[in-house]
Amino acid sequence: MNIFTYFERLVPALSDDKTSMPPNNLVGFCLYYTKGYKKALFIMTILASLSAITEVILFGFLGQLVDWLVTKHPTTLLHDEGMKLMGMGFLLLIVIPLIAFFHTVIVNQTLVANYPMSVRWSAHRYLLKQSVTFYEEDFAGRIATKVMQTSLAVRDTVMKLLDVMVYVFVYFLAMIVTIARADYRLAIPMICWLVIYLLIQAYFVPLLRKVSVEQADARSTMTGRIVDSYANISTVKLFSHTKSESEYAKQGMLDFIVTVYRQMRLVTGLSFSVQLLNSLLAFSIAAVAISLWINGAITIGAIAIAISLALRLKGMSMWIMYELAALFENMGTVIDGMNTFSKPNVIEDKSNASTLKITAAKINYEQVDFQYVKDHALIDKFCLTIQPGEKIGLLGRSGAGKSTLVNLLLRFYDVTDGKILIDDQNISDVSQDSLRLQIGMVTQDTSLLHRSIRENILYGREDASEEEMIVATKKAQAHDFIIDLTDSEGNIGYDAQVGERGVKLSGGQRQRIAIARVFLKNAPILVLDEATSALDSEVEMAIQDSLFQLMEGKTVIAIAHRLSTIAALDRLIVVDEGKIIEQGTHHALIEKGGVYSQLWTHQTGGFLGVD
Ligand code: ADP
Repeated sequence: MNIFTYFERLVPALSDDKTSMPPNNLVGFCLYYTKGYKKALFIMTILASLSAITEVILFGFLGQLVDWLVTKHPTTLLHDEGMKLMGMGFLLLIVIPLIAFFHTVIVNQTLVANYPMSVRWSAHRYLLKQSVTFYEEDFAGRIATKVMQTSLAVRDTVMKLLDVMVYVFVYFLAMIVTIARADYRLAIPMICWLVIYLLIQAYFVPLLRKVSVEQADARSTMTGRIVDSYANISTVKLFSHTKSESEYAKQGMLDFIVTVYRQMRLVTGLSFSVQLLNSLLAFSIAAVAISLWINGAITIGAIAIAISLALRLKGMSMWIMYELAALFENMGTVIDGMNTFSKPNVIEDKSNASTLKITAAKINYEQVDFQYVKDHALIDKFCLTIQPGEKIGLLGRSGAGKSTLVNLLLRFYDVTDGKILIDDQNISDVSQDSLRLQIGMVTQDTSLLHRSIRENILYGREDASEEEMIVATKKAQAHDFIIDLTDSEGNIGYDAQVGERGVKLSGGQRQRIAIARVFLKNAPILVLDEATSALDSEVEMAIQDSLFQLMEGKTVIAIAHRLSTIAALDRLIVVDEGKIIEQGTHHALIEKGGVYSQLWTHQTGGFLGVD
């Protein structure tokens, strides 16, 4: 294994450690994601300190060299000081390059790529466990951007703090010791410089920090507005709102730029103060050194050390300014990411969650209460038993709570009170994976992943064979059109890619793929949520057949606006305001002459075409 590989693999970037919610404070958050990298960071810090010390030693030696050149005779210099000169040569040619090499390798090979990737990996796995609500409350694009940027910002914050700041601290300390050894009076301007420098930082840093938090907020609002326009581009165009959208984004940009102005005013104040202080230092050190020399108190070598270090300090303090500005920008990004990442998983498996075991697929809603918004009860003491193999149709006006009832069964949300049982097991006591494994669902808007058609169908059951997949696709009447597909890269049939740069599918085609996926999954419970409402009548007829096949032997909940699609089911349940207001078979409900019968008459013009 070569040395690069060794350092690259020192810490695995993608370890499968358990992830949990990161702490909601800057230090805790960074520490949480630094797991595994502490040792590498520690070594990096030690090497940075050593490199600072060796550099100052060289400066100290410079003073001595000047003294030797003034006082020694050229013929005896090598004889008298040969060992010291060789020692310095060794330091310069062997020790310093070695320190620099290992420091660079630890930084470039071990940390630069792996550290942020492990933050990303850990954050991504935690975010995947977040509930549907979490994703409904934010933009997918924004969350993804945060995952990308926060990981880099965590790395830069921690590494800059440890590497640059420790380097600077040790450098100053070594500098003061070296100068004081030449003459303690020379150290006085330097100590004054340090005290004033720290006071300047103490004044500016909290202000910069405050601005960087505000800037992070403004940045995320600005990004959000832009993402919103892009994500809904067809609506924007449809309503000819391109201009107002750019105005909306412009306001976000203006708000953001104001925070940048404020930040930059502070940065200008800070950097000017430091510039001034540096000039004062160079001047006072030179003045003290010359007056000491006039009085014969110090050698020329000491002056050389003092002035060269003062000049070095001048250059370095500007570099520190630059690093500090970057540090604060990174801290702002970390805080912004923290606000997204440090949210608890609202829906979590219990620690002792069991696996859902299906014996008959009976579903019970027992006194279920639910509300999305506090104090706005939507589902109220809802009771419903669906027998094994029974097929029910849920209907009611839009907003009645039908999809919510299904979402509760899938545990996308937790019930506020009451319980939902599947074969007498409370769904909140079983693992979410085992619950959803037993439920097949076809919804109105099918989202297909940006992968091949095959991968999309196999999403239903990863280990299905090619034959099983094709059987499922044929049942869903999707096989014939799939084999004719070609994407822009020339992939054909099941290998054609869906989405960006891939094949564009019609609503009916997407729906058939979704049905094939659920056929393949072959789960004992089936949920159809407006599964055919986006389709035209002809396609609907074709798919309806597939759906009836799909329902065979399963417990089914079907939601539909178009009553003809559910009228033939075993039992129809009419819901309003989260409660059942009527239930029975199609015929019984028509005879009853209630809400259903009115709806039916309204939709079909009184034609009773269902047996
Ligand atoms: P249906 O399927 O019968 O049309 P839903 O169950 O989708 O009705 O919605 C019922 C009510 O709950 C509606 O008033 C809707 O606005 C509200 N609602 C749905 N989803 C959410 C959500 N994620 N957050 C807040 N309110 C919601």
